Amino acid sequence: MGDHATSLPRFEPGWVWLTGAGPGDPGLLTLHALNGLEQADVVVHDALVDPEILAMVRPGAVVEYAGKRGGKPSPKQADISFRLIQHAKAGLRVLRLKGGDPFLFGRGGEEALALVEAGVPFRVIPGISAGLGGLAQAGIPLTHRETNSAVTFLTGHSVTGEVPDNLNWQALAQGSPAIVLYMALKHLEEIANRLLAGGRPADEPVAVVSKATTEAQQVLETSLGRCAAEVRAAGIEPPAIVAIGEIVRLRAGLDWLGALAEGRSLSADPLNSRQGRQAG
Ligand code: SAH
Repeated sequence: MGDHATSLPRFEPGWVWLTGAGPGDPGLLTLHALNGLEQADVVVHDALVDPEILAMVRPGAVVEYAGKRGGKPSPKQADISFRLIQHAKAGLRVLRLKGGDPFLFGRGGEEALALVEAGVPFRVIPGISAGLGGLAQAGIPLTHRETNSAVTFLTGHSVTGEVPDNLNWQALAQGSPAIVLYMALKHLEEIANRLLAGGRPADEPVAVVSKATTEAQQVLETSLGRCAAEVRAAGIEPPAIVAIGEIVRLRAGLDWLGALAEGRSLSADPLNSRQGRQAG
């Protein structure tokens, strides 16, 4: 870690570091996350953490997948928290590694509360959330002065696995110029329908970024009216981020990754470069 090492904290035994691993690309890890990987005794990770990142643990550290233990297919959140507490109380340095950011749709809050209750000391290391990393990779700014001064992060999946009902979809449709959906592929049709019912135009641009920042990244540009059918037809797989709003039009001029791959240069003024489609 070179010169940085001196300013980074020592991982004390009995602590849990609740850490964001970013969206996939190991280059998007923070120095704090890397520092944790290099000192942890045990790494407890979720399904969405990239294997390349898990390969960065210190030799001899134990790597555990939180999704399965003792043949049980899907442990309850309480079981995972309990396991973190057990490890910490056994005097281990516990790195709890989560995709993206631990406090954004990552249940990091629940785990942190359980640690507090058990008297286990912890640190939270933020990560680049998939919504931020995925959109950056697709060449879509989250905000742009001409299109939106607010952005909404939404999960398409509630605790029960259904489209969240504790949201005012009408208000979202009318008040959120840019919406970034997590966990939304399964219920995309219903979500799109709720936004359309709330007054969003069917031709509003939508981008779906699947497996963002990994080698397998795919970006589908579509519209609110057609997105569910086109995602099905294209066989887009989770995990995916769905961006809804005029910001998606900026991709026409800012798809830096596509330009890099195809060896072409980007053209200026993306909002006005598309025939017949001027941003309001
Ligand atoms: N805490 C995570 C989100 C966990 S919820 C974060 O901050 O990113 C899981 C959802 O995250 C997935 O359903 C998907 O919507 C999104 N996601 C995670 N990794 C992704 C990736 N590499 N590409 C696209 N979406 C991803």
